[in-house]
Amino acid sequence: MSETLANLLNETRQFPPSAELAANANVKEDAYAQGREDRLAFWETQARRLTWAKEWDQALDWSNPPFAKWFVGGQLNVAYNCLDRHVEEGRGSKVAINWVGEPGDTRCLTYADLHRLTCQAANTLASLGVRAGDRVAIYLPMIPEAVVAMLACARIGATHSVVFGGFSVDALASRIQDADAKVVITSDGGYRRGKPSALKPTVDEAVDRCPGVEHVLVVRRTGEDVAWRDDRDKWWHETVEQASTEHAAQPFDAEHPLYILYTSGTTGKPKGILHTSGGYLTQASWTFHAVFDHKPDTDVYWCTADIGWVTGHSYIVYGPLSNGATQVMYEGTPDTPHKGRFWEIVQEYGVSILYTAPTLIRTMMKWGDDIPAQYDLSSLRVLGSVGEPINPEAWMWYRQNIGRGETPVVDTWWQTETGAIMISPLPGVTATKPGSAMTPLPGIAADVVDDQGNSVPDGGGGYLVLREPWPSMLRTIWGDDQRFIETYWSRFQNMYFAGDGAKRDADGHIWLLGRVDDVMLVSGHNISTTEVESALVSHPKVAEAAVVGATDPTTGQAIVAFTILRGSVPEDEASGEALVKELRDHVAKTLGPIAKPRQIMVVPELPKTRSGKIMRRLLRDVAENRSMGDVTTLQDSTVMDLIAGGMQSAK
Ligand code: ATP
Ligand code: MG
Repeated sequence: MSETLANLLNETRQFPPSAELAANANVKEDAYAQGREDRLAFWETQARRLTWAKEWDQALDWSNPPFAKWFVGGQLNVAYNCLDRHVEEGRGSKVAINWVGEPGDTRCLTYADLHRLTCQAANTLASLGVRAGDRVAIYLPMIPEAVVAMLACARIGATHSVVFGGFSVDALASRIQDADAKVVITSDGGYRRGKPSALKPTVDEAVDRCPGVEHVLVVRRTGEDVAWRDDRDKWWHETVEQASTEHAAQPFDAEHPLYILYTSGTTGKPKGILHTSGGYLTQASWTFHAVFDHKPDTDVYWCTADIGWVTGHSYIVYGPLSNGATQVMYEGTPDTPHKGRFWEIVQEYGVSILYTAPTLIRTMMKWGDDIPAQYDLSSLRVLGSVGEPINPEAWMWYRQNIGRGETPVVDTWWQTETGAIMISPLPGVTATKPGSAMTPLPGIAADVVDDQGNSVPDGGGGYLVLREPWPSMLRTIWGDDQRFIETYWSRFQNMYFAGDGAKRDADGHIWLLGRVDDVMLVSGHNISTTEVESALVSHPKVAEAAVVGATDPTTGQAIVAFTILRGSVPEDEASGEALVKELRDHVAKTLGPIAKPRQIMVVPELPKTRSGKIMRRLLRDVAENRSMGDVTTLQDSTVMDLIAGGMQSAK
């Protein structure tokens, strides 16, 4: 990318918080000044929201950058902060998790229940020889035991490595090997799209390649038959559920490793991100309190992410539980048994804070407004989005159709590497703009810079960077300090390079513009994928779009777009030339002729990672007629055949 990204999209709608929300907000305007005046003091204040066994001597040791140490000398137990202190303070009977299985079975776990189970799991892991510092791999569906397993590791100081339950043998084996895990926690299976989906066979095959694994702990969820190795496999219900419920949580150093988590793999080979304890929990906990304006006595929170992604780690486990939240956890897919399932759950449990991903919002748009309209969504008061840039029209749809046109939408930018939310509106403070993540949170030094690392002026675009260390930052890439330095700290001096493009609008607000690797260079102009996609999605017939730059003899690169139409568009219209022309003209009108796509393909699906992010590099391969790169993190590999087939016939 040369100096700046073109700034094409002009969004003028703005939504201030209601007076009531503003008056009762957990975090108010003054927090920004506190963060600016004394960043470290600000984070020390937030760290004091936790219970420490020993207070730290130094807030930040940055004497050996980029290797940060936060709350040096402090000691705490992460699981104690998520469970014991709530029980000790008389909140043991409060519901922690209202769990909904895909087939419709439910479980309700209080903080006391979760505490008891976690103590039992901690005792079991210890009896299997797991010690502080050992790694444990967790490969589970979205069942409460996944939360318990993570907290049990945290409790005994073992480092968990959660692997998304949809991953293949290869992906699981390589992650177990990379972390050298001693124990794997899994289940017979889980429910997916109306039927049991086995997990244990994948573990069996993976563990055959991992001689370091001594035990496999198996939760019974589906009751299907599983192969068994007596010397290695243990049932959860015969061990954990029989173990002592007494377990004293011992404090660990603030910098004690908490978990390894591999990035989604949108851009290539996943990186094993290492997070530690005190700083991570401080920021995960405070951002949950601040960004969702969470009120422990009245709110019911639901994050639809899988526990296998960082969103699940920070905003299903560590953020909500350290705040004593009551949350919903759902095992299955949004369209099983019907397309209103999410809204049925919101209605049933009175969900007040919902945190989901743009991919889901766009899918709901495609399915049609009439589906959410059938449910009572009046309990909702804050809506969140994470994972990809949210197109302004998808943001508006979310606010109008899910949030009654009233609730704030917080678009939260962060990464596996950042550990917690970094750029986001605050619901009681920020006048939001559809499609913008708006403002770095208090205590966060995010900036948009040009090629030379200079801040771009308002109205300019460039690279998103972080100028100062933050408490929940990754500490390294597991086992590969050199890759850590090269990937994040070598592009600019003394700055963390996020790999995302961004612009600052005329008011200084930040808009994420997609991956730097995806930026298109058309006739000498850098054009962001996000802006062209958002222009397409702003057309009433389009639900979702992905654009890529394909080599072009005249313009260098030309824009090729793949679009999914809304369900309301009739079949004959969807396949017609007229619609393609209409869409090309619409983009040219919205963004200018430079952004007019050379080619638009109407497709049934887009290639996505398992966490729902569009994989543009594969579409680029299609658009340029290349054989496809690494597809191991792809959700559904048949999608690519469908798209590639359509591409051939369009030529
Ligand atoms: P990999 O690094 O392996 O390619 P990944 O970047 O998809 O995978 P994650 O850490 O899950 O893995 O995703 C973080 C990325 O997701 C960000 O760098 C950004 O590109 C995108 N992202 C997340 N939230 C937002 C948001 N609110 N707006 C725009 N982009 C977002
Ligand atoms: Mg990434």
